[in-house]
Amino acid sequence: LQGRLEETEKLTLAGTLAAGIAHEIRNPLTSLKGFIQLGRGKNPQYTDLMLTEIDRINGIVSELLELAVPKPTTLERVRLDSLLNNVVLLLNAQANLYNVELKIGQEVEDDVFVVQGEENKLKQVFINLIKNAIESMDDGGGIDIHLTSSNQWAKVQITDQGGGIRTEMLERLGEPFYTTKEQGTGLGIMICNRIVSEHKGVLDFQNNGQGGTTVTVKLPIFLR
Ligand code: ADP
Ligand code: MG
Repeated sequence: LQGRLEETEKLTLAGTLAAGIAHEIRNPLTSLKGFIQLGRGKNPQYTDLMLTEIDRINGIVSELLELAVPKPTTLERVRLDSLLNNVVLLLNAQANLYNVELKIGQEVEDDVFVVQGEENKLKQVFINLIKNAIESMDDGGGIDIHLTSSNQWAKVQITDQGGGIRTEMLERLGEPFYTTKEQGTGLGIMICNRIVSEHKGVLDFQNNGQGGTTVTVKLPIFLR
């Protein structure tokens, strides 16, 4: 209970309302999902479509909730290298569906990257960015996730071999609802921007020479 009270105290009014609404939307969705699964035998194609759409609504609710909740107040020490390994494990299944291989490496072996912040929020950043990279690669290929560090920064570069981002579109990234995907929400990068700047970091998108995109996340290093 103590933990939950603290959670609630962190929320502003807007955040509290959003959390309440999210809860009210998710509950009936969970029942709907159950009933739809029960009737699956009759029309599996439609059933699967309905289940996918429900997952999509859940995803949108989570993103809106993320935007309504104010900045992190807990400052944990977060090991970026372990966090990235976890994110890769999480996304491997989706990557497989796209015939994409996620490759993770760091410049100096055994280097430890500790930053300060809220682990779940940082995780969200890399999930969003790597998902975008996967979704850009219709023809499959590899995504390189590379960690380097200087005295000041832990730097993560995510390089994909996807379709890239047209130059005139680069400046629109992070605008709410800007999406080129049929199923997109256009909220992912906005969320990343916010979380990264709350952690006093820098987020940057560039077309790499090979036609794909390189996303760079820099976060102030806390400990090595
Ligand atoms: P969504 O993924 O829901 O479309 P995002 O905010 O995550 O929303 O991304 C916005 C848009 O930026 C995407 O629709 C896509 O056009 C472009 N984009 C983001 N990352 C990449 C990438 N790695 N390669 C190509 N385009 C990208
Ligand atoms: Mg996205």
